[in-house]
Amino acid sequence: MTQEHDVFHRHPDEDVDASHTAYPGTGFVVWGSLGENDRVTSGSPTPRPTAESAALFERAHAVTPGGVNSPVRAFNAVGGTPRFIESARGAYLTDVDGNEYVDLVCSWGPMLLGHAHPQVLAAVAEAAARGTSYGTPTRPEVELAEEIVARTPVDKVRFVSSGTEATMSAIRLARGFTGRELVVKFAGCYHGHVDSLLASAGSGLATFAVPGTPGVPEASTAATLVLPYNDAAAVEKVFAEHGDRIACLITEAAPGNMGVVPPAPGFNKLLAETCAAHGALFVSDEVMTGFRVTRAGQYGLDGALEGWRPDLVTFGKVMGGGFPAAAFGGRADVMSQLSPEGPVYQAGTLAGNPVATTAGLTTLQLATDDVYARIDSAAETLRAAVGTELTTAGVPHVVQAAGNMFSVFFVEEGVESVPDFAVASTQSTERFKAFFHAMLDQGVYLPPSAFEVWFLSAAHDARALDRVISALPAAARAAAAVPSTPRGA
Ligand code: PMP
Repeated sequence: MTQEHDVFHRHPDEDVDASHTAYPGTGFVVWGSLGENDRVTSGSPTPRPTAESAALFERAHAVTPGGVNSPVRAFNAVGGTPRFIESARGAYLTDVDGNEYVDLVCSWGPMLLGHAHPQVLAAVAEAAARGTSYGTPTRPEVELAEEIVARTPVDKVRFVSSGTEATMSAIRLARGFTGRELVVKFAGCYHGHVDSLLASAGSGLATFAVPGTPGVPEASTAATLVLPYNDAAAVEKVFAEHGDRIACLITEAAPGNMGVVPPAPGFNKLLAETCAAHGALFVSDEVMTGFRVTRAGQYGLDGALEGWRPDLVTFGKVMGGGFPAAAFGGRADVMSQLSPEGPVYQAGTLAGNPVATTAGLTTLQLATDDVYARIDSAAETLRAAVGTELTTAGVPHVVQAAGNMFSVFFVEEGVESVPDFAVASTQSTERFKAFFHAMLDQGVYLPPSAFEVWFLSAAHDARALDRVISALPAAARAAAAVPSTPRGA
């Protein structure tokens, strides 16, 4: 058994072996050897073997639409063979062909502590050994709810199994509470695949939305209004025209699903105040940002400092510790409208599942100030390095951050910031593609789309960051070699 495995199986109460990097007070350990792929070449990156992934992808195609269970995993936006991952530990993924990657996706956000954290694994194993689901209330649900209420601006919280369910339920509750139907959302914000939220903007500002995908009836989006993000005037206009019919406004607390587009200073406050002035509820979707950008999510970066709070908040990702767990919560008077206390129906067979809530609780208990400080600092290092290398290679770009979440837009020369989806959509996806594959070939797993967040974890130590940083020059050169062809041009 290698040292690496020894640590992997370590009991959470044992002292951390001095031969591993330990972080005092966190119980967190960074794993040892990276194995044979821990080399970064300075010349052109060489493609890695993908025969096993390709074979699995072919089998998957025969039995699963597109070969994947969530579209972006298929690599359609970047081309090539999606990597089938065999295992993950700390900051690293290993695929079925034996390639190792520094993981900058972190399961699209949840893995705040890194993969296979020994204390989370131990807690999960202990919980699973007591049975995996009972369909009754359990202790970990209560403890996780208490932890969430202690960290965030919600009085009460209800668990569900996915972020989609959380936003869908929050909207139903907002409509039930207010007795109104209209919902306002922003273009480029994604809230899961809820019918009424899979809506594209109609023509012009403050017009009703149209379905964003086949399968969504017009009736489902007829009560949805889609506005440009960061546009205070559009918000004021829509409330002036329809304010007494609006049940809620939902927004990503800091959007990450069009790449990172942070709210302009005071924008979320304006949303909260405008909703309050019109008797509508302000729903802050913290599925991505919650427990990730601070202990209290994006709220820790704005509402807590500016003195306002959302009426409802949705959570997911980090709070499930890598398991399917999500939640929505908010004001006690609003939450009390939920069944069985109130008339608004909502339920779930696996909601509050004891293994999932144990994973989430253990993750949040380990997510100390030190963990956030470490991730913030890693993100800062990486943002600076990406900016420097792209500049050196002459690639126009914008790097944007919301706390420790950040992304890189391969925009055209002269674009200095990305305030909304319209500007985000002008970036060169071809340049991103070249950059992505050059990184992948050097053992760095970026999100396989230009419109996604680069996620870090507490396990991204200096060694992992060095590996990413040393891969950047060749990737920047690969992007520079792609001629300028903005999307939509
Ligand atoms: N809201 C936001 C802000 C999200 O980022 C996501 C997922 N990326 C969701 C909701 C939906 O969550 P899920 O995929 O768990 O349904």
